[in-house]
Amino acid sequence: MFIDTHAHLYSEEFETDLDESILRAQKENVNYILLPNIDLVSINPMLALTQKFPNCIPMMGLHPGYVKEDWDKQLNLIEKQLFESPEKYCAVGEIGMDLYWDTTFCEEQKIVFRKQIGWAKELKLPIAIHCRNAFDEIFEILDSENSTELTGVFHCFTGNLEQAKHILSYGGFMFGIGGVVTYKKSELPEVIRQIDLKHIILETDAPYLPPVPYRGKRNESSYIPLIAEKLAEIYGSSIVEIAEKTTQNAIHLFQLEKFGVK
Ligand SMILES: [Zn+2]
Repeated sequence: MFIDTHAHLYSEEFETDLDESILRAQKENVNYILLPNIDLVSINPMLALTQKFPNCIPMMGLHPGYVKEDWDKQLNLIEKQLFESPEKYCAVGEIGMDLYWDTTFCEEQKIVFRKQIGWAKELKLPIAIHCRNAFDEIFEILDSENSTELTGVFHCFTGNLEQAKHILSYGGFMFGIGGVVTYKKSELPEVIRQIDLKHIILETDAPYLPPVPYRGKRNESSYIPLIAEKLAEIYGSSIVEIAEKTTQNAIHLFQLEKFGVK
């Protein structure tokens, strides 16, 4: 069994074939799918999806790319949503910093990230981190916020070995590995080879970043085995072992027993 630990299946790219795409995933033994929230607008579609498909488990948080003029209002309402029924969510996510497209709200992104780390600590939930062009800024915040009870994942990790080691030094963090690892020019396989499999979980980030041979198309959860296959090659192991270990890692990190996942 596999778990896709990061997929935006509530996005409009799945409007016409959501049910089929979830069935295709189940056919490939991708039995559970974790859904990170984005902003206020994504909450209702995400929760509607989890109502219909109980094997989809939601997170709650404000994505750094959506920290704009109204960040304060968004953050307050998302906080309300989370604290109203924290048992509904498997993580605070996705949160973090994105300085790739726009640095206008860099300082606000920092405030929002810190605030959400505080929620995670209070509720004893892991965090799902989005980090784009922002390792230095994220490390600065985590260096001061990290504690023994803080856990989480660097979703779509594409950093170098030095950054990987920094993340490992926190003690409670994993690496979310997706389609990028299958790309021809990716240096990620070399970095991953030096990270123990016990720190790795699988994700698609659907609809984005599909693995080879689907580059340029829409990504979906049924492609998870392609990522596992590549990891089996990297670790010189079997796809069965990759499935078992990464699934156990995900169950442990996101406390998925609470949601009936075994
Ligand atoms: Zn995402």
